[in-house]
Amino acid sequence: MRVLLEEIFGRARGEGRAYLMEHESKAVLESLGISTTGGVLARSEEEAVDAAKSIGGPVVLKVMSPQVVHKSDAGGVALDLPGPGEVRGAYREMMEAFAEKEIAGVAVQEMARPGTEAIVGVARDPTFGPILMFGLGGIFVEILQDVSLRSIPITEADADEMIRGIKGRSLLEGYRGRSADIPALKRLLLRISDLVVEHPEIAEMDLNPVFLYPDGYTVVDARIILGDVPEEAEAAPAKVQDLRELFYPKSIAVIGASGTRGKLGWNVFSNLISHDFKGELYPINPKAESILGVKAYPRISAVNKPIDVAVILVQASMTPEVVRECCDCGVKYVIVESAGFAEMGEEGRKIEEEMKAITDSRGVRLLGPNCSGIINTHCSMVQSIGIVDALSKGNIGLISQAGVCAAGMLWGLRHIMDFGIVATIGNKLDINETDMLEAVSQDENVEVVCMYLESVKGGRRFIDAAKRITREKPIIALKSGRTEAGKRAVASHTASMAGDDLVYSAVFSQAGVIRARDYEHMFNLARAVSKQPFPEKEGVFIITYAGSLGVISADAVIDEGMRLAELEEHLKERLLDLLPEYVGGTNPVDYTFSMDAETVKRTIEIGVESEDVGSFIVILQAEILGSYVEPLGKVDYRGKPITVCVAGKEFAMDEVIRMENAGIPVYQTPEQCADAISVMYRHRRSSR
Ligand code: ADP
Ligand code: MG
Repeated sequence: MRVLLEEIFGRARGEGRAYLMEHESKAVLESLGISTTGGVLARSEEEAVDAAKSIGGPVVLKVMSPQVVHKSDAGGVALDLPGPGEVRGAYREMMEAFAEKEIAGVAVQEMARPGTEAIVGVARDPTFGPILMFGLGGIFVEILQDVSLRSIPITEADADEMIRGIKGRSLLEGYRGRSADIPALKRLLLRISDLVVEHPEIAEMDLNPVFLYPDGYTVVDARIILGDVPEEAEAAPAKVQDLRELFYPKSIAVIGASGTRGKLGWNVFSNLISHDFKGELYPINPKAESILGVKAYPRISAVNKPIDVAVILVQASMTPEVVRECCDCGVKYVIVESAGFAEMGEEGRKIEEEMKAITDSRGVRLLGPNCSGIINTHCSMVQSIGIVDALSKGNIGLISQAGVCAAGMLWGLRHIMDFGIVATIGNKLDINETDMLEAVSQDENVEVVCMYLESVKGGRRFIDAAKRITREKPIIALKSGRTEAGKRAVASHTASMAGDDLVYSAVFSQAGVIRARDYEHMFNLARAVSKQPFPEKEGVFIITYAGSLGVISADAVIDEGMRLAELEEHLKERLLDLLPEYVGGTNPVDYTFSMDAETVKRTIEIGVESEDVGSFIVILQAEILGSYVEPLGKVDYRGKPITVCVAGKEFAMDEVIRMENAGIPVYQTPEQCADAISVMYRHRRSSR
């Protein structure tokens, strides 16, 4: 098989072609055991008639030309030719129509019986490499863009999800006499994935259409486009580094620390002091004797003591020299917080290269530049450029590409969520998002990881790492730049479909990463995920004081693909005893405005006992929210999560904060509650 492939690829290359014609592409597929409608290449009318005879039944003629990529558009496909007369006619017409073109011949192939049309394709993504696509043909792909993507290689589970992931899946599972052979389709996807892994020179591929049948499938048209063998994606580090001493340094030098309030060098150093960092601090500033009461040194080489981390705040042009000096002094990690590098243009990019060459040659890892350092509440360390107020120790790891963003968010969020490590990665010159993800997720205090990303440098390694991590610690990612910046000019249909944002969504789900829509969504999810257990069951139990909010919650639960829990009879009876006479319905339970904390507590306790209840949505009045904090905090939920909805919560922030600190996330709308619960339920199910 390899030989055949190499021969076909070699011939195309020899003729200066990157494009394999249909008959060549199908020969490649056939050699892998993929069934196609085949095609005998005829170079004369007689050969065409003979080929048709030996195929038997109606045939199809297609022009095979290196210059004709879209055959039917050009009039190069003649379908359903019943006998020799029609074959001759079609052959002559084609010869006339393509007289000006270079023609390899006319392919004669069997006319496939009708089936459900699908498309299977491959495209190459600049970040993640080869991407596999699956969708239904016709309007599904053209107009509805109903396709699913995965980064290659795929697993069997990926193939399954690709098939189940399209909106038109019911056509495959059986609808009005249509159905598809799902196991055969899965094998097809896996084979294409294997083919591309073994032959990285395959840049793009379209199998369009593939006819799907209740028993098997046949590939009706195929085109393969060859490209350069991509360079090995960034070499993975020999072993996963835990960056332990970056997160828990015993000593920090701050180069460019300043005693002048308002300067960034003051902000960083005063953050370290005010949060009471317990390790050694060495402010480096040639013009100061001491800074904020700590003895200062003119340069790092004057310290003469072991230094784990150096935070650099000097202007960009000076950084390479400073970095070199840090390396000379045995510094283990360099954090460049200064800006003015690649983000500013060519000159800055050159300075980056210079720095990287220095740290690489010394085996020193570099964070940034253009970042805001690390915060680790568990060792009272804040290296942030923006002033950060008191933080409590928490279990959320936050990895942020943008430093300012992270600091700004923390200011407000610190009241309602607790972070462990906040790592800003800036331009990712050395330590990138994947390194950081691996390291942060290894920290014993971190149970959930949030990521704010503008790009991914780790490529496929990111997917593999995230997939491994998310089985134990959920990852919630926000990727900005979702709007697509222009379609690339590409030869295959697949490549035109596999836009940036679709690819990110696909790799996130492939890796089990929860994708957030926006900042608010990321932190809304993080609050639930970091404070509450994951629901084990689909059934949701809703308790409300306002009928309307109960109904809205019920709708939201259903919209999210969850359902209302059905209490067992004996529990319903217990519940009816609690309910006022004029109220019916046991889910949502509507206590009207007479609802109080004790009743809600007892209602939840009934729900906890039900086999069908997996989670709770409790809708509370802002005016008396405070009265619920203690009773709800005391319930034994037996591993079932609760979210609270308070309409107008912004006017009851003190109580909201108390509730959040009691471990119960409070949302503004029922939809946000239902969203959090359902995201967690789906995550639990998929990471099993
Ligand atoms: P194009 O280069 O235009 O994509 P195709 O080979 O896909 O050409 O042919 C166009 C259409 O003709 C297909 O989408 C399919 O519906 C039909 N067709 C092509 N070959 C066959 C065949 N062997 N049996 C049945 N239908 C076919
Ligand atoms: Mg086609």
